[in-house]
Amino acid sequence: MRRLIDLLSPLCRFRPARNHARGSSQPATARIRSRSSALALALAYAAVPAPTTAAVTADQSAASIIMYHRFGEGDYPSTNVRIEQFEAHIAELASGRYNVLPLEQIIDAFRSGRTLPKQTVAITIDDAYQSIYTVALPRLRKAGLPFTVFVATDPVDAKFANFLSWDQIREIRDGGGTIGHHTASHLHMADASTERILAEIKKANERYEAELGEIPRIFAYPYGEASLAVRSLIIEAGFVAALGQHSGVAHAEADQFYLPRFPFNENFGSINRLKLVASALPLPVSDITPLDYVLDENPPHFGFSVSPEIPSLDRLSCFASTGSGGPAALTRLGERRIEIRTSQAFPAGRARFNCTLPTREGLWRWFGMQFYVPRNRAE
Ligand SMILES: [Zn+2]
Repeated sequence: MRRLIDLLSPLCRFRPARNHARGSSQPATARIRSRSSALALALAYAAVPAPTTAAVTADQSAASIIMYHRFGEGDYPSTNVRIEQFEAHIAELASGRYNVLPLEQIIDAFRSGRTLPKQTVAITIDDAYQSIYTVALPRLRKAGLPFTVFVATDPVDAKFANFLSWDQIREIRDGGGTIGHHTASHLHMADASTERILAEIKKANERYEAELGEIPRIFAYPYGEASLAVRSLIIEAGFVAALGQHSGVAHAEADQFYLPRFPFNENFGSINRLKLVASALPLPVSDITPLDYVLDENPPHFGFSVSPEIPSLDRLSCFASTGSGGPAALTRLGERRIEIRTSQAFPAGRARFNCTLPTREGLWRWFGMQFYVPRNRAE
């Protein structure tokens, strides 16, 4: 069952993210933790008018964003895919059954309200490891598949042996890859001060500008870890979208500053998993609780409302990254409200939920969410 779960695992957070986010006057200050500030935030969000450009439904704008780190680096199985796994993925993605598009094109479609073709997929690779150049690049280039590399600048500047050089990064860019922002030092942002985060973004911006001549427009949170305050800083810094590391299908109605991705590694790198996630559909939700990604309560009172465009929720299942590995206790309130309760608190660090719903066509709808339990607050 666990495999199925991770085969399947996510979601968005605030529906109003799109427009609201861009025009937000929410203060980008320290982490928001108290109940009263969370409530104030909720009210602030509620006051934001609904986006006017959301002419497309979740299904019409669906895109599975897949995420890699290392290729053929067997010493790191949790972030690595074996070369034969990767080659099988490429063969599948280049088979003509999918529309593998540049991530920027997908984000621009979300922002402008354009539809995307069915089975749209984006390939992303985090952290700028050397095997991107030696293993992934030649294979992606040969297959003609676009991809985005999220580069944290400090390890590159430090010239660590297993990281890309700026020359190689330029070669990747000139060969059709795009470069995304991943901070300077790859810090745990949800634990960092506002000053530190702003300094990180500024430092990385200067390095991208100097080495590439431009600053990336799309951001990926290191470790997929964020908070509402971090998210606000990213919006105010001018990015057009930001990606987490929770599984799920991205779409135009999802929070554009906490978009899901499907992580792949050796244990979750089978061709069947790739086929499943590349064909998956969104499970569009709104009114997710708790509001902040950084948990005040542990275990959290996790809940969301499923969009009326989804016909039946009878077969919906949710799984938590803590506990037995089986389905979490799920309560349905009325037609559309789902509340999930787990008996066990999450350990410090990343806490994930995955909710999946099989369709009559044999596909899966998928919504996932990642929260963060601060190190000093684990219970
Ligand atoms: Zn990373």
